[in-house]
Amino acid sequence: MTSAETAQNRKEKQEVRVRFAPSPTGALHIGGGHTALFNWLWARHTGGRFILRIEDTDRARSTAAYEETIMSGMNWLGLDWDEGPDRGGDYGPYRQSERLDLYREHAGRLVAEGRAYRDGEAILFKVLPGQDLSFDDVVYGRIETTSDGLREKDSDALKDIVLIKSDGMPTYNYAVVIDDHLMAISHVIRGEDHISNTPKQILLYRALGWEVPQFAHLPMILGRDKKKLSKRHGATSVYEFRDMGYMPDSVFNFLALLGWSAGEDREIFTRGEAASLFELSRVTRKAAVFDPDKLNFINQEHLKRLDPMVRLAMVRPFWLEAGLPVENHDDAWLAGALTLMEGRGRTAREMAEFSDYFVSFEPVKARYSADAVPDDLRPGLRDFFGVLLSLPDWTPENLEEAARRWVADHGVKMKDYAMTLRFALTGMKVSPGIFEVAVHLGRDEVRRRLEHYALI
Ligand code: GLU
Repeated sequence: MTSAETAQNRKEKQEVRVRFAPSPTGALHIGGGHTALFNWLWARHTGGRFILRIEDTDRARSTAAYEETIMSGMNWLGLDWDEGPDRGGDYGPYRQSERLDLYREHAGRLVAEGRAYRDGEAILFKVLPGQDLSFDDVVYGRIETTSDGLREKDSDALKDIVLIKSDGMPTYNYAVVIDDHLMAISHVIRGEDHISNTPKQILLYRALGWEVPQFAHLPMILGRDKKKLSKRHGATSVYEFRDMGYMPDSVFNFLALLGWSAGEDREIFTRGEAASLFELSRVTRKAAVFDPDKLNFINQEHLKRLDPMVRLAMVRPFWLEAGLPVENHDDAWLAGALTLMEGRGRTAREMAEFSDYFVSFEPVKARYSADAVPDDLRPGLRDFFGVLLSLPDWTPENLEEAARRWVADHGVKMKDYAMTLRFALTGMKVSPGIFEVAVHLGRDEVRRRLEHYALI
């Protein structure tokens, strides 16, 4: 069997085969990650196959390093593929630069059949007028168009389609048709900026005598100012989000909601839940707005749901980056500190910043000097802290009860005393319940910190 026949056989079985086809000319950006993710969702929802194809015909701009970054970006997002340049498959090769013979072969056939012609080293496809190239897009609905739309700029003449350029490389519109057919792609899911390329591709499918796949174009992603998302809007590469401390689960969840909804106002879900709920026909064509507040909200929700040890694994690199002696503590204790932090910090990076005082006293000293504590308050504070430190049973409840009793007996405000304790232990204005923090730090460490500030 020829590879074309194999492809046709597979297609008859109606297996869903989708592909993500990045050009390795840059990192994996939000737009690319979004496209890859929707392909992955559809493949996983249907039990089909997700294919990674590298479109590296722009030899000057494509690099192996970018190919690597795109793959590791996809891995980080949890988008695993079933066939691709790194893992092979029955429809390879999966890099366009390794498929040049195929492009030449089919272009040669079109020349032999009189549908295409040579112009020097190049091969062009002859566009004839009056051909209906309309199609039903799964997302955008019916798109009516004819070959009369394929004109030279500012002219009435139809513009022939370049298949092979004079340097021997195929054009995007041609190679994509050859590959999508030979790889038995059932659904072409890609950004809406490719809607305008689709009629040309349909023309080529017909000329080659091949069935046209289903097209599903994804809505454009806009910044909050309703302009197309770009560098101006801040982070755009998937890795920038990782480095800011967003969890892959959250970025996945957030991207999935750009143009799709899980229904019933359901905003937080896992990859598996999204895959089972996903429907291509429910993707909206309305441009989706990239809202950083929403990403923060989603990330915070995922952080809350994490197993404490997994949360620790997320936060640890940011403590280390800040030079904190993480190794001085055992993992269960650190994970316990982060459990106290629950709901604080929108990203793992923020969570690490807001909890640094658990790991070390140094950042507290750098933030807080106790200079502002009025001298007339100090004797009272010493007495207050002395009572707390001498409590036999050191639990948050006991500390709180003793503190309340002490301030009531002395006719003073809890706030002044508890706040000084908070500053001395954390160097921060906000923290989890300060008696819980004190108990987690332990009586000795609390005494050490209070002594440093001469508050005991
Ligand atoms: N290499 C093309 C791109 O990155 C692929 C477009 C397609 O999916 O057809 O835009």
